[in-house]
Amino acid sequence: DDTRKLFLPDEAATLALGDALAHALAPGMTVFLEGDLGAGKTTLTRGILRALGYPGRVKSPTYTLVEPYTVSNLYLYHFDLYRFQDPLEWEDAGFREYFNPDSICLIEWAEKAQGLLPSPDWVIGLAPEGLGRRARIAAATPLGTECLARLVL
Ligand code: ADP
Ligand code: MG
Repeated sequence: DDTRKLFLPDEAATLALGDALAHALAPGMTVFLEGDLGAGKTTLTRGILRALGYPGRVKSPTYTLVEPYTVSNLYLYHFDLYRFQDPLEWEDAGFREYFNPDSICLIEWAEKAQGLLPSPDWVIGLAPEGLGRRARIAAATPLGTECLARLVL
């Protein structure tokens, strides 16, 4: 199937999902993280990075738009495009080069850069439900489907 859904009762569950996703991700993937402010997009990114061996702080790059990480011989770029406005800035900043076969790009607020981004391999949605979150992971490319099949929840 191309969609997986699960309930995340607390922050630890979001981090655990990040761990599972880290084991299924492949270089070259683009992942959109959808959900309102506070939904858990950055928490999920932290879970992925921790699982890949990054011990430090992970904060949303709201002002810098992107935070680069090099972990486990991978290039991982965490975008937060909430404040992104100027399409010219996209080329000037060289963001296009971040999307390549050796890198993984996780993107919050992808809709702010519509038309500039490659189509996502996965779209991950997070939404409040009770005291926790409802998570939905949808594969949108053949690579995404292949990797989603490897996801062990
Ligand atoms: P976003 O990046 O989507 O704006 P953050 O990850 O920065 O959201 O913040 C999410 C907030 O929700 C954090 O305070 C985090 O502790 C909390 N949180 C994350 N996952 C869950 C969950 N499954 N249940 C309850 N709270 C959660
Ligand atoms: Mg965030």
